[in-house]
Amino acid sequence: MTVSRILAKKGRDVITTEPHRTLREVAQLLSDKGIGALVVTGSDREVLGIVSERDVVRAVARQGDAALDDIVSKHMTARVVTASETATINSMMRQMTTGRFRHVPVVEEGRLVGLVSIGDVVKSRLEEFEVEQQALKDYIATA
Ligand code: AMP
Repeated sequence: MTVSRILAKKGRDVITTEPHRTLREVAQLLSDKGIGALVVTGSDREVLGIVSERDVVRAVARQGDAALDDIVSKHMTARVVTASETATINSMMRQMTTGRFRHVPVVEEGRLVGLVSIGDVVKSRLEEFEVEQQALKDYIATA
C-alpha cells in the first residue's frame, strides 16, 4: 500500500498555517478542526515547517500563556520529514516510529500535496488485515 492510495481515499486537503501567524491562531485552528498538527507553508505551498499540539503544549508549559502571542516560526519544527506519494505505508510507519512524530506531509515537486497522520496509517493497516483475514477464511472454506 502506498501513500497515494491513502490520499486517494482521504483527500488531499491539508490545513496549513504561515510562519508569521500566532500560536493562539494555531491552537484555535487545531481545536476548530479537531486535528493534531498544521503544516507551515510559504506562498508557493512549499513546506517551511510543522507545528503540532505538542509544540503548543511545550511552549505554554515553558512560558505560560504569553507563548500564545509568539509567532509560529519560533515554535515550529523546521526540519520536517516528508514523503513522496510513491512511499509505502511501511516506510512511513518506520519514519514515524523512529522520529516519534504522528504526521508526515506529502510533497511532490517541492509542493505540499497531502498529509498522512498516524491515524490514517493505522486505518489503512486495519483494512489490509481485514482483507487478508477474509481471503484466508475464503481459502479455508473452499479448500
Ligand atoms: P506530533 O507527534 O506529530 O504531534 O509531533 C511531535 C513533534 O514532532 C512536534 O515537535 C512536531 O513539530 C514534530 N513533528 C511532527 N511531524 C513531523 C515531521 N513529519 N517531521 C519532523 N518533525 C515533526
